[in-house]
Amino acid sequence: MKGNAQPSRAALVTGGSRGIGRAIVESLSQSGWSVGFTYAGSHQAAQQLSQELEAQGSPCKAYRADARDFQRAQELAEECEAELGPISLLVNNAGIKRDKPLFSMALEDWQAVIDTNLSGTFNYARSFVPRMMKRRCGTIVNIVSVSGIAGLPGQTNYSASKAGVIGFTKALAKETARFGLRVNAVAPGLIETDMTADLSEKALKRILAQIPAGKLGKPADVARLVEFLAEPSSSYLTGQVIPVDGGMI
Ligand code: NAP
Repeated sequence: MKGNAQPSRAALVTGGSRGIGRAIVESLSQSGWSVGFTYAGSHQAAQQLSQELEAQGSPCKAYRADARDFQRAQELAEECEAELGPISLLVNNAGIKRDKPLFSMALEDWQAVIDTNLSGTFNYARSFVPRMMKRRCGTIVNIVSVSGIAGLPGQTNYSASKAGVIGFTKALAKETARFGLRVNAVAPGLIETDMTADLSEKALKRILAQIPAGKLGKPADVARLVEFLAEPSSSYLTGQVIPVDGGMI
């Protein structure tokens, strides 16, 4: 921890190996944060990223940890704070989609998305928030989606998971404000990552027509907002859901 009354600048980002999570890890790291991040399968990309950032002089640790695994989240809170110091920022970013119309959605498609996006957020908040409450210092940023606000066809599972995280965000913000914690959500629109790389040209054209900005967002657009929510300059902001979507909703 730097200085006397300064909160620690150590963060944990779930799903930091690729896409939006990776941009958040890089951006925090460049701003002087010590960053831990989790990943599920991308071992090589995760190791490479943490090594690159460490080589630039920023403490960075990659942890293989499935967001669905509550026990692992509990262990990781211990491990991560031992290595990086008290975590004052948790970013719940790990997420998946399994888009299908409801009539052909298997129970497994429903369960995988709810378990990763919604229960994964619970697993990490439940593991880190009590520690933050004891220290009376901490910020949580949950990455949701415009799909959780507006509902999108083919995404009943995904929209439900993200709407669940929005409710979770608002409830937790009210529960923890008196302990000095802040909890907010960022709702990206369509961002250029692996998650959106499989969209057909036709689907992309249809979606672009609904984005007043006329273009897709970049992972860095989301990362900048997350960083703002982590800083004292946003200290009166809690329980909010902020879209970063080029005016889509
Ligand atoms: P992405 O490129 O597919 O990356 C997903 C990240 O989550 C990866 O780091 C992945 O790790 C990790 N992950 C997935 N399942 C996991 C699990 N079970 N345990 C731990 N980590 C897991 O996705 P993205 O586009 O960056 O999306 C990041 C977040 O933004 C998600 O919550 C997503 O719902 C949300 N979002 C994205 C968009 C968009 O347009 N891209 C829009 C709205 C909201 P591995 O690399 O190891 O697989």
